[in-house]
Amino acid sequence: MSATSSRDSQNPRIAIVGAGPAGLIAAEALAQAGCRVTVFERMASPARKFLIAGRGGLNLTHSEPREAFLARYGRAADWLAPMIDAFPPGRLRAFAEGLGQPTFVGSSGRVFPRAFKASPLLRAWLARLAGLGVELRLRHDWRGWGPGGDLLFMSPEGERAVSADATLLALGGASWPRLGSDGRWTALLEREGVALAPLQPANSGALIAWSEIFRTRFAGAPLKRIALSAEGATVRGEAVIAQTGLEGGAVYALSARLREAAAWEGRARLLVDLRPDLSLEALAARLSRSRKGESMANRLRKAAGLSPAAAGLLREAIAALPAEAEKLAALIKAVPLEVSGMSGLERAISSAGGISRSALDAGLMLRARPGNFAAGEMLDWEAPTGGYLLQGCFATGHTAACGMLAHLGLAPPDPWRGAWSAADVGETKARDDG
Ligand SMILES: Cc1cc2nc3c(=O)[nH]c(=O)nc-3n(C[C@H](O)[C@H](O)[C@H](O)COP(=O)(O)OP(=O)(O)OC[C@H]3O[C@@H](n4cnc5c(N)ncnc54)[C@H](O)[C@@H]3O)c2cc1C
Repeated sequence: MSATSSRDSQNPRIAIVGAGPAGLIAAEALAQAGCRVTVFERMASPARKFLIAGRGGLNLTHSEPREAFLARYGRAADWLAPMIDAFPPGRLRAFAEGLGQPTFVGSSGRVFPRAFKASPLLRAWLARLAGLGVELRLRHDWRGWGPGGDLLFMSPEGERAVSADATLLALGGASWPRLGSDGRWTALLEREGVALAPLQPANSGALIAWSEIFRTRFAGAPLKRIALSAEGATVRGEAVIAQTGLEGGAVYALSARLREAAAWEGRARLLVDLRPDLSLEALAARLSRSRKGESMANRLRKAAGLSPAAAGLLREAIAALPAEAEKLAALIKAVPLEVSGMSGLERAISSAGGISRSALDAGLMLRARPGNFAAGEMLDWEAPTGGYLLQGCFATGHTAACGMLAHLGLAPPDPWRGAWSAADVGETKARDDG
């Protein structure tokens, strides 16, 4: 077992555990402030989840106005507001551009790097961090604190104790555990008396018991330009028919409501509007114009304009479709589906739950363990897809770095003086899939 220790008030030694976006953005701010920063990561390479996010184009943030943006964080909105104000969407866009990755606002309002992937951004970022003296220790699995407060790691060389003047835990949530963040830290923090909300799948698919015929025929098919409603909320977007139910952005946006309803009542009701762009009357008028004797399949395709998957979904939900135009239109605009629950953490985009707000001070220091901070998805907030997750991770990582500098008696980084909204940073809109 080896131990490293130091005390240097101007250049304190900082340990960051977790090389995801929250940990790395904190590492950058702390290194810029003169700290000696080491990032410990259990995997053989950093930021695996960030790289996977890049497969979908790396939706960094969103361009909508401040109030609408913050409302996406639901119950945690007022907690995150000052943190996002300090590291707003405009700043995240400027950060990417500063790494040589110009961004664009898509037609959905979401913000992506033009390269539409994470790897060039991450490469440039790691090089910049190395230039600032940030050290990266891979294959270091954090196992908790030793009796003297040292951090204990399991490394290829065996068990290792590391002492630091301050520590940031940025261990991520529990979704896609094979990428490194598996939520096992909850047991370590619970032991310390840190209040936690249980980790649960967020932005996950809705479980629906399809018939064998429907599943075989349509699994993998998209449902484009639909609207979904559940528990008093309606979301326009897209979904994909999965083996086990429905996946995709519109479903993820409702996943917190569906999850809660399914937990309370054992099931939740999801309504699918297959033609949200047409009013009930307009759709009924179209359906009533169809020729006498025309088959239902033709009416659904020609008059209602439904894709084979959309028509299949309607038939899956309603065994006998009514011939009457008004009744048929009403069903097309509200296909009822029964959701038995949400898919598990293995496939969820993110996780809800984590370290409770009450366990942290305003600088994200753990009250139960002074000198130890936490940031990113391991905190108890959740948000839909659309760039809000990465924005939340960057903003909380930045706040933790500022909190740590204040704790160490060092000056905070200069406040952001650029645009709040990503829309004001200045780049034309381009089409995206949203
Ligand atoms: C398929 C997919 C697509 C996504 N797409 C988007 C998107 O387009 N836009 C968006 O905003 N968000 C997206 N997300 C979510 C986003 O990637 C995460 O919210 C974000 O990466 C979380 O950042 P973090 O730094 O908090 O944690 P993570 O990125 O999870 O990083 C935590 C790190 O800590 C390490 N670690 C964990 N435990 C230990 C330990 N005991 N010891 C040492 N190291 C440890 C992990 O290995 C990991 O590298 C996506 C997620 C997935 C799964």
